[in-house]
Amino acid sequence: MPNEYDIVVIGAGPAGYAAAIRAAQLGMRTACIDKALDREGNPTLGGTCLNWGCIPSKALLDASHKYMEAAHQFDEVGIGVEGLSVDVAKMMQRKDGVVAKLTAGIGMLFDGNGVVSLPGSGRLLAHKHVEYTTHEGEVTELAAEHVILAPGSVPMEIDPVPLVPDVVVDSAGALEFEEVPPRLGVIGAGVIGLELGSVWCRLGSEVVLLEALDEFLPIADQRIARDALRAFGRQGLDIRLGTRVTGASVKGRGKKKQVDVGYQDKDGEHTLTVDKLIVAVGRRPYTEGLLAPDSGVNLDERGFLYVNDLCETDAPDVYAVGDVVRGPMLAHKGAEEGVMVAERIAGHKPMVNYECIPNVIYTHPEIAWVGKTEQDLKADGEAYSVGTFPYAANGRALAANDAEGMVKIVAEEETDRILGVHVFGPQASELIGQAVIAMEFEASAEDIGLTMFAHPTLAEAVHEAALAVGGRAIHMVNRKRR
Ligand code: FAD
Ligand code: AMP
Repeated sequence: MPNEYDIVVIGAGPAGYAAAIRAAQLGMRTACIDKALDREGNPTLGGTCLNWGCIPSKALLDASHKYMEAAHQFDEVGIGVEGLSVDVAKMMQRKDGVVAKLTAGIGMLFDGNGVVSLPGSGRLLAHKHVEYTTHEGEVTELAAEHVILAPGSVPMEIDPVPLVPDVVVDSAGALEFEEVPPRLGVIGAGVIGLELGSVWCRLGSEVVLLEALDEFLPIADQRIARDALRAFGRQGLDIRLGTRVTGASVKGRGKKKQVDVGYQDKDGEHTLTVDKLIVAVGRRPYTEGLLAPDSGVNLDERGFLYVNDLCETDAPDVYAVGDVVRGPMLAHKGAEEGVMVAERIAGHKPMVNYECIPNVIYTHPEIAWVGKTEQDLKADGEAYSVGTFPYAANGRALAANDAEGMVKIVAEEETDRILGVHVFGPQASELIGQAVIAMEFEASAEDIGLTMFAHPTLAEAVHEAALAVGGRAIHMVNRKRR
C-alpha cells in the first residue's frame, strides 16, 4: 500500500521536524504533514520557531541592539556616528530573508534524509490512521506503525482585548510593524512581551508593559529578576506590575489609528493611549481539528495532549511532543522530545532530562538559567550554598563596555552538587550552555572551580561564581573565606 509509513509526524516545527529527521536517519519510512503557509500562501516548514517565533524575533533583537549601541554606546568607546537612521522596511526584509533561508533549509534536510513532506493538515483517526487533507482539499488516509503529534501552540487571546489587524496584534503581528510606533503598549511582561517590547523600545518607541502579576518574572531567580527590572527601567521600558487590563478600543482611521487601553491597578482605573498594542499573555496548546473522537488520545485538564515522561499518549504507538504537551514551551525542549521519541521507536533508550532545560530571555542584558532558583530551594526546605560574581569585575565585560549583570550558582550544601545556575548579563544564552553540561554530568561547584577557563572571557564569571560558592573567588572579596 503506497500510503503506508513507519512514522507519520503531524507538525513540522522544531519538535516535529527533529522527530521526522531523526526517524528517517534511523531508516524509518517517515512522512511529515504541516499546514503552515507563509505570507505569499506557500507551504512553509519550521513551525512557529522559524516563521513567527525564535528566529524572526532574534533577527529583530539583534538588529535593534546594533542600532541602540550605535545611538547610545559607540560614543563612550570613542566612535562618532552621524546621520544614524533606522530603515524598518530593510530590517524586516533582512529578517524575512533569514526566515526564508532557514525554512528552506528544513525542506533540504527533509529531502536529504528521505522524509516525505506533505503540505496540508493531518488528523489522527483510530488505530494509527491519519487523515491527510492537502491545501487543495484532496483527502487521503495514511496508515502508520507510529504517529507523532507535534502541532505546537498558538498565542492566547483575552476577551477584553480582541485583536485588530495591524493595531492590536499578537506576537506574530509585532514582528511585522512597518514603522516604529511612537507609543507601544504590551500586555504581559513575560518572555515574549519583554523581547518584543525591547525591540521597539530600542528603535525609539515609548513602551509601556502592563503585567497582571505583582511579581516580575516569577519563574526566574528573584535576585536576578530585581536587577533586570531596574536595568530594563533604565532602558526606557515602563513595566507596570499589578495591572489588569480590562478593555481596549480602537479610535481614528488608517495610519492615525490609536488604542485606548483600560486597566486597573491598586490606585483604581486608568486609560493608556498607544499607537499599537501587543497582546503577549502566553500561548496555548493547539489541538483544533487534530483528533478524531475515537483517536484514543486524551487531553489533560489544561488542554495539553496528555503524555507520560516518554511522551507516550493514551493511544498505543501514538506520541506527542513539543509545545502541545506539558513542560516549558521552548523549541529545544520540543526538539529533544522529538529525537527521544524517534530513537525509542527505533529501540534505543534515551530520556529527556526535564531538570536540565535551559531558559533564556533575549533582552539586553540577557537572562538565562537552568535548574532550581534560590526561591525554589527555600520553598523545598533544601540546604544550599550560593556563589555570585558580578560582570563588573570581569575584564572582558569591562573591555567590551558591557559589564552589567551577574552569575549566580546555587549548590547543595552537603554535596556541593550544582542545583541551579542563573546568569543576567551579555551572552547569558551562550554561558548557560556550559552550566547545562556541568549539571548533566552532575558536577559540583568545585568541579567548575577546578576547570581552566580562557582569559579574558565572559565565561570566567561562571568560573568565579563557582569558586565563590566555596568562598574562593579570586577577583572579588569573598564574604565567606575557605
Ligand atoms: P510549532 O513550532 O508551533 O510547530 C507546530 C507546527 O504544526 C506548525 O507549523 C503548525 O502549522 C503545524 N500544525 C498544527 N496542527 C496541525 C495539523 N493538524 N496538521 C498539520 N500541521 C499542523 N522558544 C525558544 O526555545 N527560544 C526562543 O528564543 C523563542 N522565542 C520565541 C519568540 C516568539 C515571538 C514566540 C511566539 C515563540 C518563541 N519560542 C522560543 C517558542 C518556540 O517558538 C516554541 O516553543 C516552538 O516553536 C514549539 O515547537 P513545536 O514544534 O512544538 O510547535
Ligand atoms: P509568558 O507566559 O512568559 O509569555 O508571559 C505572559 C505574561 O502575561 C504573564 O506574566 C502573565 O501574568 C501576563 N498576563 C496574562 N494575562 C494578563 C492580563 N489580562 N493583563 C496583564 N498581564 C497579563
